[in-house]
Amino acid sequence: MDTHKSLIGSKKKIVLVAHDNKKEDLIQWARFNRDLLGRHDLYATGTTGSVLEKELRLHVTKLQSGPLGGDQQIGAKIAQGEIDFLIFFWDPLEPHPHDPDVKALLRIAVVWNIPVACNRATADFMVSSTLMGSEYRRQVPDYEGYRERLN
Ligand code: PGA
Repeated sequence: MDTHKSLIGSKKKIVLVAHDNKKEDLIQWARFNRDLLGRHDLYATGTTGSVLEKELRLHVTKLQSGPLGGDQQIGAKIAQGEIDFLIFFWDPLEPHPHDPDVKALLRIAVVWNIPVACNRATADFMVSSTLMGSEYRRQVPDYEGYRERLN
């Protein structure tokens, strides 16, 4: 499939989400990385966003709570090209009422080649990258052929 490049600027639009059993993990990680996070635009599902805003004293654009549609809102933003980066500490040991939304969000991030971290180790590696502070030309598959398939 052909690809084209989409520019991720040096100031990134970062989404942070954590399931309830993983919120403490995300808070600790975010506290450690507060200065770095402060250089980017932050988005989060409702409860995660409220907790992070209180902990970090940084502005976070809050969407709906995950089970109320927040994951779907983030997925829509990714499809619209409005998100550069996803940090999603999902809980591998508990079922959730919105598991289909979680799967859909992780899927759409792959469709649009968005960097995703689902645990602290991956998040550490991602934010340690020199690409964090620079522009990056993300390869986006060219779905034109797919859109035109029945025409
Ligand atoms: P929350 O949603 O931030 O509102 O808790 C997270 C999720 O469960 O997807």
